[in-house]
Amino acid sequence: MMFPSQFKALKRHLNLYRKTYRRFLTKAEKSDSKQIDAIAPELEKEVWKDIDCLACSNCCRKMTPTFTREDIKRISAHFGQTPAEFKAQWLEQDKNNDWVNKIQPCQFLNLKTNMCNIYEIRPIDCAGFPHLSKKKFKEYAHIHKQNIEYCPATLSMMQKIVTKFEGVVK
Ligand code: SF4
Ligand code: SF4
Repeated sequence: MMFPSQFKALKRHLNLYRKTYRRFLTKAEKSDSKQIDAIAPELEKEVWKDIDCLACSNCCRKMTPTFTREDIKRISAHFGQTPAEFKAQWLEQDKNNDWVNKIQPCQFLNLKTNMCNIYEIRPIDCAGFPHLSKKKFKEYAHIHKQNIEYCPATLSMMQKIVTKFEGVVK
């Protein structure tokens, strides 16, 4: 587990810089600058040098993935259920009609080890999370705005990007 003091430090950092990061992300959403996309993979590598998801698991504890039709088919088959049975047991529809978890932490999280019990067949959303550099940054800016509240890796990425690009993204 991440130590409580680390969470406290992150929270303090977020409280100081939340407005700055949110403002930057709003500008990034409207910007056609390619500079962030060009350097994001490199910055992401730096982020993961300091962060261990198995010491965190905050996303699996505090958020829910979106389950696609294919995810539901694959995971329900793994448990010998029909998609309808799987949905009835674990999922509900959100305001966008997306299928999401009914409960938190996620039912597939091992709370002792922070490991995912269905890692090989987990939802595609989980596999890509926290989407730091695989797609155009501007397409995920609105998602990062939510994720800085929960994900230390996203927060660290924002710290690095804003330090580098404040003034470039107008
Ligand atoms: S399916 Fe696995 S990776 Fe996805 S939220 Fe649940 S425990 Fe986490
Ligand atoms: S993706 Fe973010 S929130 Fe999820 S375990 Fe890793 S650092 Fe924690």
